[in-house]
Amino acid sequence: MSSDRDFGEIIYGLSKKRGFFWGPSPEIYGGSAGFYDLGPLGKLLKNRLEDTIRRSFVRASFWEVECPTVSPAIVWKASGHLDGFVDPVTKCTKCSQAYRVDDLILEQVPDAKVSGFSPEELTAAIKEHGIKCPSCKGELGPVEKYNLMLRTRLGLDQEAYMRPETATSTYLLFRRFLTFFRDKLPASVFQIGKAYRNEISPRQGMLRLREFTQVEGQIFLLETDEIEWPRFEAIRDDVLPLVSYQTQEKGSEKVSPTTMADALERGHFQKPAYAWCVHLAYSIFRGLGFTDDMMRLRQHLPTERAHYAKDAWDIEVHTRSFGWVECCGVHDRGNYDLTRHQEFSKVKLSVKVDKKPVVPNVLEIAFGVERPLFCLIDNAYAEDKERTWLKFSPHIAPVQVAVFPLMGKPELLGPAREMHEAIMDSGLVAQFDVGGSIGRRYRRQDEIGTPFCVTIDYETLEDGTVTVRDRDAMSQARVHKDALIETLLNLVHGTVSFDSL
Ligand SMILES: [Zn+2]
Repeated sequence: MSSDRDFGEIIYGLSKKRGFFWGPSPEIYGGSAGFYDLGPLGKLLKNRLEDTIRRSFVRASFWEVECPTVSPAIVWKASGHLDGFVDPVTKCTKCSQAYRVDDLILEQVPDAKVSGFSPEELTAAIKEHGIKCPSCKGELGPVEKYNLMLRTRLGLDQEAYMRPETATSTYLLFRRFLTFFRDKLPASVFQIGKAYRNEISPRQGMLRLREFTQVEGQIFLLETDEIEWPRFEAIRDDVLPLVSYQTQEKGSEKVSPTTMADALERGHFQKPAYAWCVHLAYSIFRGLGFTDDMMRLRQHLPTERAHYAKDAWDIEVHTRSFGWVECCGVHDRGNYDLTRHQEFSKVKLSVKVDKKPVVPNVLEIAFGVERPLFCLIDNAYAEDKERTWLKFSPHIAPVQVAVFPLMGKPELLGPAREMHEAIMDSGLVAQFDVGGSIGRRYRRQDEIGTPFCVTIDYETLEDGTVTVRDRDAMSQARVHKDALIETLLNLVHGTVSFDSL
């Protein structure tokens, strides 16, 4: 994982200065690692990402639900999180600072093999590589398992946990879904909501959060559906940037652009339905503005998989700050979850197939919103001698249009304000700015990634035209004010290009 710490500093600096995110939160009390506040621009950007994600799922026939974020302990006993959702941790014997062991070893010995190691093997690895406490150089103690769930209580004494994923809370509704879907499978649902992970010592800013917004789509289906998946036909010729498990076995992480049909034939995917889910996750990320040169799809090695996963692929996004960043996981969870909840709740979570009860399988797409958000800012950053700008896709840019009267004179201010309001009424987010020279106002908008600026000048009063300026090329076009809103909407949604104006 190559990374450019100085570049990371630039991105964090810009994000704090311009109001994308602040933290660690609460800043005025010194901050707790793993918590961030979203500023006004970060919140706008996150809303746009969530809107885009929501539209993609609904378009793919998923139904959205919302569940509580706290559940009693038995739910997490059943899901396997109480026993299995653990990180290996060591404490310094001298200063008592705690560390997540696999991260600590990889920080000091980047090519060490630690994935899938038991606590005993990790204790041995610490000795073998001579790892000491980074803050005081003291000896590190034996490695123990540490549960990542945030514990709380309901009422006086009922043990409960903040959900570490939204998926489990979705599975608990399976009986209700059967009624809603009139007992027909496959059935697809998704959830967007907060999840919590009590990371031992999160040190990667926005990439490792203790509280984050998770998106998880689930398909409940039978084994026969997984093989007979008619929707695969529509995507079979699409080419995706894949890094299969077989490629990695040969010691390479090279991307092979592969059609979905070929990937299935070569055994990169076992099941058309699962392959379709990987494709859906990929198209969601394309919709967020990530292009093929920024991302790859990587299959997990068997030792990397979570306790419930039969197969797993990740979407990874390349950043200048942190190298490749894992942003999304697609999991074949089999019938593990429903079987466990059936066992623990004593409620039947099966359907009838040929008069026999069958517990359905689950395919899942899971990701946090904050990681792609950070990766988008990282990838959007551009600079030259003259300026710095964020080249967000117009449809996800926090502020989409800025409106400037050339000067603060009443004859220009009036029409400019009217135009600003009309743009806001169209559903676009527009900022009004009269401060400083036009050049300086352009720079301010460039720095927050506003794709289009509209200037009202004396020519506007004569012939009704305004100047529209494009952020990336810095080119300008005159557009009549009667056609302005439609033009801006088309530009933002990518239905016309600026050059065609
Ligand atoms: Zn120490």
